[in-house]
Parts: sequence; structure tokens; C-alpha cells
Amino acid sequence: MSLSESWNEVFIGLGSNLDNPIQHIQQAISAITQLTTVEFIACSSLYNSLPVGPQDQPNFVNAVLRIKTCLTPQNLLKALQNIENDHGRVRNQHWGARTLDLDILLYGTDIVKEPNLQIPHAEISNRGFVLYPLAEIVAEDLFIPGKAYLSELLTACQADGLWKIQS
Ligand code: ATP
Ligand code: CA
Ligand code: CA
Repeated sequence: MSLSESWNEVFIGLGSNLDNPIQHIQQAISAITQLTTVEFIACSSLYNSLPVGPQDQPNFVNAVLRIKTCLTPQNLLKALQNIENDHGRVRNQHWGARTLDLDILLYGTDIVKEPNLQIPHAEISNRGFVLYPLAEIVAEDLFIPGKAYLSELLTACQADGLWKIQS
């Protein structure tokens, strides 16, 4: 094991559809990038998207954040869950409404398959509200480990109900 901490490039998906979603997203971006273990690289525009799963809930605001971090995937997950909890995240209905959802989309080129953590995010290929903001903040076509190039996933993905609300 190396004694020096390694810094990895990570993409985080943010979502909110309750209690002033834009504010939750903006505050979460600040909270994540203010961690001493995190360095900001870029953030996408904010997007409107249609809810996944139960349809009787408000539309979502989504964004993708690009950072560098020396946290391990599991410690990053804990840090993100703490921030979700600070935003009053209540876990009841699966894919239900929430004040803040923070998903680890990519962690460098790593593939993680642990009971509580899958990276790349299990649904990354199917979600326009993840793929379009992601494409906005990468200069070159990105290979999603174990899956395909981002450009290929975008071609196959619907973007119904997805639009930029704030650059
Ligand atoms: P989805 O994962 O389909 O977007 P969700 O975000 O609504 O659904 P949550 O209720 O927020 O799901 O999370 C359920 C569990 O998913 C978390 O407790 C966490 O352990 C696990 N999980 C697995 N992979 C990831 C990941 N890449 N990022 C964040 N959480 C993950
Ligand atoms: Ca999610
Ligand atoms: Ca989540």
C-alpha cells in the first residue's frame, strides 16, 4: 500500500425535487467543494428532468460536479451521505421525492462492486439527466468503465423532459 494519498478524479450526480431544489443543489456543491479532501474542477449547468419511478412528484433539478479527491470511494460515500442528511434527506419511498440526492457516478477509472456501492453508478447508461450534464464538463469523449463511450451512451439515451434551467 502506498503511504502517499492519491488524488482521483470523480464525478458526482446531484438531484433535488423538494423545498427549493436549486438552492439545495447550489449549497451541496459548496459543501462538497469546501471539504479539505476535495478540489473543485468543474460543474455542469443545472437541468430540469422528469422524475424516475413514481410520477406523482415534482420535476427534478440535476447537475453533475467534477472534483478531485483523496477520499476513498467508501469515505466519499459517507461524506456525501452526511451532506444529504444535513439537507434533511428522508429515506422512505424508493425513487421518491427528496431534498438532496448525491450519487458517485465515476471514480477515476475504477470499477467498484460492493454491497453498498457500485461505481460506475448502476443506472448511468440509462439516464439523460446524468449523461448530458456529464458531457458538458468533459473535453474529450469519456470511456465509462465496463460500459461504453459517453458519446455512444448519449446516442442511445432519451432526453425527454430534460432542459437547461441555469448555466
Ligand atoms: P439510484 O441509485 O437508482 O439513483 P437513489 O439515488 O434514489 O437511486 P438512494 O436511496 O439514494 O438511491 O441510495 C440507496 C443506496 O445506494 C445507498 O445507501 C448507497 O449505499 C447505495 N449506492 C450504491 N452505489 C452508489 C453510488 N455509486 N453512489 C451513491 N450511492 C450508492
Ligand atoms: Ca440517485
Ligand atoms: Ca442516491
